[in-house]
Amino acid sequence: MGSLQAQVQPGAQSQPTRVILSGAIDERCELDEALGGLAESEPIELDLAGISRINSIGVMRWIPALEALCKGRDVRVVRASYVVINQANSVANFFADAQVRSCLVPYFCPACGDNKMLEIEVDEVRAAGCSAPARRCDSDDAQLEFDELDSYFTFARE
Ligand SMILES: [Zn+2]
Repeated sequence: MGSLQAQVQPGAQSQPTRVILSGAIDERCELDEALGGLAESEPIELDLAGISRINSIGVMRWIPALEALCKGRDVRVVRASYVVINQANSVANFFADAQVRSCLVPYFCPACGDNKMLEIEVDEVRAAGCSAPARRCDSDDAQLEFDELDSYFTFARE
C-alpha cells in the first residue's frame, strides 16, 4: 500500500481522462501503478488538489514519471495544491511538458476570518501580472486578501 492514491475517471465524449491523485509523493508512492495502465496517447487531465506532501525522493520519482506520461499525449494539470505549487516554484521542470491550467490559491477574509483555498485559472493569474486575481468572500462579499507572497506564482511566469 503506497502513500499515493489514484482515481481514474474515463472522459465522456472527447473529454480527457481525469486522473485524480491524492496523498503523498514520497519514497513510498507507487507512481508507476498510479499513472500506468492509461491507454497510449489519450489526453489526461491530472487533478492534484489532494496532494498533501512531497519530499525530495518523491520529486526525483515524480519528474521522470510525468515526463513519461507526457510522451505523445496532452497532459494538463488542474487544481495544483499548495504543496505542489511550492515544489514547482523551487524545482525546475516539475511539470515536465504538462500544461498547468489551474491551481489552488490561499485567500483570507478580513471580515469573517475564514481561510479559503480557491481554484484559480493560470491564465487569470498571468492576466493579473502573475499576482492573485481579486475575489470576494462568498459569505459576506468582502474583498479577500491573497494569503501568500507574489512569488507563489513564479511557476506561471513564461
Ligand atoms: Zn468572509
